[in-house]
Amino acid sequence: MTMTAVKIIEKYIAFFEKRGHKRIANAPLVPINDPTTLFTSSGMQPLIPYLLGEPHPQGKRLVNVQNCFRAQDIEEVGDNRHTTFFRMLGNWSLGEYFKKEQIPWFFEFLTKELGLDPKKLYVSVFEGYQNIPRDEESAGIWNELFQNAGIDPKGHIFYCGTSDNWWSRAGIPEQMPPGEPGGPDSEVYFDLQPEKGEMHGSFKELSDSGRLLEIGNSVFMEYQKQKDGSFTKLPQKNVDFGGGLERLLAAVENQQDIFQTSLFSSIVATIELLTGKNYKDNEKSMRIIVDHFVAATFIITNAVTPSNKEQGYILRRLIRRGLDNLYQLEGEEIKPILETIIEQYKQTDPYLVEKFEHINKVLLEEEQKYKRATNEAKKFIQKKYPRVGDELKSSVEISADDAFLLYTTHGLSPTQIKNLGFTFNDQAFAQKMEEHQSLSRKGASKKFAAQGQKT
Ligand code: ATP
Ligand code: MG
Repeated sequence: MTMTAVKIIEKYIAFFEKRGHKRIANAPLVPINDPTTLFTSSGMQPLIPYLLGEPHPQGKRLVNVQNCFRAQDIEEVGDNRHTTFFRMLGNWSLGEYFKKEQIPWFFEFLTKELGLDPKKLYVSVFEGYQNIPRDEESAGIWNELFQNAGIDPKGHIFYCGTSDNWWSRAGIPEQMPPGEPGGPDSEVYFDLQPEKGEMHGSFKELSDSGRLLEIGNSVFMEYQKQKDGSFTKLPQKNVDFGGGLERLLAAVENQQDIFQTSLFSSIVATIELLTGKNYKDNEKSMRIIVDHFVAATFIITNAVTPSNKEQGYILRRLIRRGLDNLYQLEGEEIKPILETIIEQYKQTDPYLVEKFEHINKVLLEEEQKYKRATNEAKKFIQKKYPRVGDELKSSVEISADDAFLLYTTHGLSPTQIKNLGFTFNDQAFAQKMEEHQSLSRKGASKKFAAQGQKT
C-alpha cells in the first residue's frame, strides 16, 4: 500500500482519537466464534452486542480500520468502484454523541483533513418509514454546513427511502430478522465528473449515471426490529459510520476509477506486463484479476484453504475466476501479481511478508487442481460425446445434466464449462442450479442471512 492510503488511515484515526475515541483492533476477516456469518463485511459486525447495549471495554467512542470481504459484491467487481475485499474506516458512538457531532465531524474530515472540495460533495438523508420520521435533523445540519462553506445547499441534499438510506446487516426493514438493530443513515457522495456542471435529475438518475461515488455512510442506529415487524427504539442511540478507504483515496487523487489510484495502479501495471495487454482495453478482466487475488491473499492468511464448502468454496471461486480472467488475457504467472500485492499491502499488514511462501503455495496448488479438474472434465465429455469428424466445429453440445455434473463434481462454473468449448441448455442448467440451491439453502439459511447488506 502506498503512503497515500496509509496517510488517510492515519489522519482518520488521529482525527477521532483527538475527539476522545479509542482505537479498536481490526477484527479477523473470518469471524471467530460466530457461526452466523462467513466473513466480516463491515466494521460494525463485531460490535453488535455493544450497539445493543453491552458496555464495550474500551468505552463509548471507538474508531478503527477494518478489513472487509463481501462475497455478495462479487458480481459488482468489474465496475469502477467495487471490490470484494476493501478497508472500511469506522467510528462509533455507543449511546453517546449523535447527529450533530457526527455529521459536522465527517464533513470536517473530508474538507479539512483530506482537502476535498465541498462543492463536490452531495448527501442523502432518510425520508421516513412507518413510525420512523423523516430525518429533518440531519438535513438541517447539512444545510448549515453547506451554507457556511459558501455553497447553496439546494441540489446537494437528497431525501431517499429505505432502499437507499436505511442500514442494517440484513438490508431493508422487511428483510431484518426480529432483534436486529438498524436505522436511518446519511450518505456522502463525491462528484466524479464536476466538469459536467450542475447536477440535474433525481437521486436515482444521478447515482445510476455513475457520476456520484458513495464514500461514506453515517448510520444512526437507534431502532430494533420486533417480532411483529414494528420498530422500537434501542436502549441507546448509536452512531455507526463506515467509509471506504479505496473510494476516499480515489476522491483525494481525483481518479474516477479506484483501480487507477496509487493503491492498485502498480498491481494493474504488473498484470499489463504479464499479459502484454492494456488496462484501457481490458478493464473488466483486469479489475477482476486484481480484486480476486487481493481477496484470496487476505482470506488465505486467515487460515482458509480452497475447498467445496463455506469460506473455502468462496476462496476456490475467487482463485479460479481470477485465473479464468488471467488466462483469457493470455497471462500465466500468478507469483508476480502476488509479489506486487504484498508490496502494496505490507505497510498496513506487515505479517503478509512472512506469509508469502504459504500464500503462493496455496494459490499454485489450487491452480494445479483447477487444471486437473478441467482436464478430467474434458476427458469425461470427450468420452461421452465423441467428436469424430467434427474438428471444424468449435463447440460440442452436452446435456444440462452433464454440465451440472461438471459443476458439482469438478467445481466448474457454467462460464468455465463454456470456456472449455461445451455448450448446453442454459435454462435447464439454471433450473438444476435452482433446485440444488434451494436444497442447500435449507441447510445454510442461517449462515447466509447475516451476509446481507443494504442493496
Ligand atoms: P454501494 O452502494 O456503493 O455498494 P454500500 O451502500 O453497499 O455501497 P455500505 O454498506 O454503506 O456501502 O458501506 C460503507 C462504505 O463502504 C461505503 O460508503 C463505501 O465507501 C464502502 N464500500 C461498500 N462496499 C464496497 C465495495 N464493494 N468496494 C469498495 N468500497 C465499498
Ligand atoms: Mg453495496
